[in-house]
Amino acid sequence: MESTIQTLSHIAHLTCSACGNNHSAFQPQLLSTCCQLPLESQYEIAEPLSKSILSARPATMWRYREMLPVFSDENIVSLGEGFTPILTLNNLARKYSLSNLQLKDEGQNPTGSFKARGLSMAISKAKEFETEGCIIPTAGNAGVAMAAYCAKAGMKAVVVMPRHTPKAFKEECYWYGADVQLVDGLINDCAARAKELNADGSLLDVSTLKEPYRLEGKKTMGYEIAEQLNWSLPDVILYPAGGGTGLIGIWKAFKEMQQLGWLPKSIKLPRMIAVQAANCQPLVETYFGHQENCKNYIGKPTIANGLAVPRPLGEHMMLRVLHESGGTALSITEQEMLEGLQELGKKEGLFVAPEGAAVWMAARKLVEAGKIDRDEKIMLLNTGSGQKYMDNVEGKYNL
Ligand SMILES: *Cc1c(COP(=O)(O)O)cnc(C)c1O
Ligand SMILES: [Zn+2]
Repeated sequence: MESTIQTLSHIAHLTCSACGNNHSAFQPQLLSTCCQLPLESQYEIAEPLSKSILSARPATMWRYREMLPVFSDENIVSLGEGFTPILTLNNLARKYSLSNLQLKDEGQNPTGSFKARGLSMAISKAKEFETEGCIIPTAGNAGVAMAAYCAKAGMKAVVVMPRHTPKAFKEECYWYGADVQLVDGLINDCAARAKELNADGSLLDVSTLKEPYRLEGKKTMGYEIAEQLNWSLPDVILYPAGGGTGLIGIWKAFKEMQQLGWLPKSIKLPRMIAVQAANCQPLVETYFGHQENCKNYIGKPTIANGLAVPRPLGEHMMLRVLHESGGTALSITEQEMLEGLQELGKKEGLFVAPEGAAVWMAARKLVEAGKIDRDEKIMLLNTGSGQKYMDNVEGKYNL
């Protein structure tokens, strides 16, 4: 594929997240060859791109077509992901005297989580580069999403997940025809197993941030927040950070929209808050200087399976977002997550993933501590549906 290719996509090249070196967007890439760290897609906008193009487009994440990396429409593998609703949590807002509390409900995506965005993008690019099969180490949702998009694309799928993952995640993968491998340990142990299984390199490893385009799928949450709020932004966004693609992606989207002129350069960008599980909080430890980085961090399992990522590859990118945005990081205990889950259920009729419950409890804590003002615009990201987590939460409510 050459750079002269006719395409709607304005992707120009990829840059190394550590040193900024350029890498080609026209051949398959994994980590940067210079630093062995994640790559970020960069776009060139030769002519002004009006946001009025959006109004006639379907309500999926593909409406931001020009700012996405897929060259040819025929390679798009879609199950209708994106453009999830932003809900107003007026009952909880009243209870806690908050003037503006909203939740973007990513549980309404195909396969029940926002992982659909990243995997739709990654599998579309895999198809574009004529890949025959994909492999993924996963805490659950990413594996389910990959299995579904691979099925749609007619690709082989190998999913490597912790043995303790709730049954619903495994079952769904089987129904999509994936090969599921179970590993004793967390996602980092699954990554090591995936490497062994793919020793001959015949499969594309679409691990978080190792594969560069999942980030581009996740960033569409940022575009949607701006568009759905009529080109304004919240004051603070709370996000449950595991590998961190959503946190990094949403911030990337805000920067891109400023370059596009879709958001004014002078707009105040939201403070980005990373929420982790107390059982696995590598970013919190590094952010507060308790360790130099996450390289030797040891995490424990949590009912928020997506947060059990002890050594995220993109830690430096997450820290950059927290510092640039004036945000912070904090963690939530297992018991607090259950409390949040029940409160969102009882007060708002939402059965969210424990990750989403953690985010709500984090908002409560930060309001209580005076770090979020009660009159600020607060945006919670609920990243998944609670339904797949039944093994973790069954019967743990208080009647
Ligand atoms: C994967 C996952 C997360 C963490 O997402 P990252 O982008 O890797 O930080 C949070 N919540 C749910 C439900 C997930 O599946
Ligand atoms: Zn580099």
